[in-house]
Amino acid sequence: MEQNKKYEERLTANEINFVKYDEKEAQLDYRERRKRYYESLKKDMLELESLDKELSDDSNMTDNSTWNFNNYNSVAASILGFIVGDALGVPVEFTSRAQRKTNPVTTMEGFGTHNMPKGTWSDDSSMVLATIASINECQGIDYKNIMDKYMEWYKNSDYTATNTLFDIGNTTARALMNYESGKKPTNCGLKTRDSNGNGSLMRMLPVSLYMMYEDYDEKKEVETVYYYSSLTHGHDISLMGCKLYSDILKELISKKNMKNAIEAIKTKDYNEFYYEPYQYNKILSGRILDMDEENIKSTGYVVDTLEAAVWCVLNTDNFKDAVLKAVNLGGDTDTIAAITGSMAGVLYGLESIPDEWINSLQNKELVFKSIEDFTKTLNNKEQNKSNEQNEEKKR
Ligand SMILES: [Mg+2]
Repeated sequence: MEQNKKYEERLTANEINFVKYDEKEAQLDYRERRKRYYESLKKDMLELESLDKELSDDSNMTDNSTWNFNNYNSVAASILGFIVGDALGVPVEFTSRAQRKTNPVTTMEGFGTHNMPKGTWSDDSSMVLATIASINECQGIDYKNIMDKYMEWYKNSDYTATNTLFDIGNTTARALMNYESGKKPTNCGLKTRDSNGNGSLMRMLPVSLYMMYEDYDEKKEVETVYYYSSLTHGHDISLMGCKLYSDILKELISKKNMKNAIEAIKTKDYNEFYYEPYQYNKILSGRILDMDEENIKSTGYVVDTLEAAVWCVLNTDNFKDAVLKAVNLGGDTDTIAAITGSMAGVLYGLESIPDEWINSLQNKELVFKSIEDFTKTLNNKEQNKSNEQNEEKKR
């Protein structure tokens, strides 16, 4: 469809040019005019040929099976699920639940709130992709390098869907300014109680996955979550949200359903590490298992976001319904659907994410390349670990 439109525009433009050309050049002699006419035809043919090529390149791109995820399909599904959820939520971000009830989102749409084309993902996915780029480059977690990548996003629109930065949270923007003014990376995040938007939760996914595959122990996980969240969000409520999300993802990979994951989380002790664990009582007490939609808030407050996402996965049984439920709660639709998508991706796998949605993502090349490289990083780490273990045995 898009290509047909391009052809039409191109042909109309040529017609107009030709009329103008004719009038202006009417005084030239016959042979000169004919020469110019054939030259312009040749130019048009070349342009149409290159459009044809673009079209065939595009159709090659729809074959997603050419990407190799090194058997890390849960990882790939989680990241792709996150980005698809983000893109589904972008056009209706900040709209109310009542609006979504009368006019529910049922598939990938364009424009709306940010007036961006269909398949545009936002800051959530940009920060996830920037973090992935850093982990791939450093083959590990390097806080300074991660902040440098965020600066590239902020300043140059790197890691974006359409080469434009159209959305950034206040707390994140302030943290990046702190970094620019020379603050230590892990001290850049605000620590006040009102700095608990979902800005660190929304970029947590690659680090959660990395910690899981690197087999971090509890102490190392807590320390990593603390420093990583504190790059932008340093208050306990944000730290706790990031840790809880990581723990839920880990449980989902082994327990295979959200109800069991929540049952397992209930037995964990968060008091030792965090000042205000009771903020997450709906999840920690298991009450979320029986809650109605009217008691689920879909704001950008980190607690509301995580609860809403968990609730959407609990109350659906496939990827598509889970992310659409999240989007149709209204409010901070992109982040809630992204977090929901990451968990539903782990649960239902790559094949559960509709091809049509994947294919409509903007800058799909970057998305797939990042995920592929990330799985290579995890694979390298696991290889190194097993080599070390073998060496150990030999000694
Ligand atoms: Mg966003």
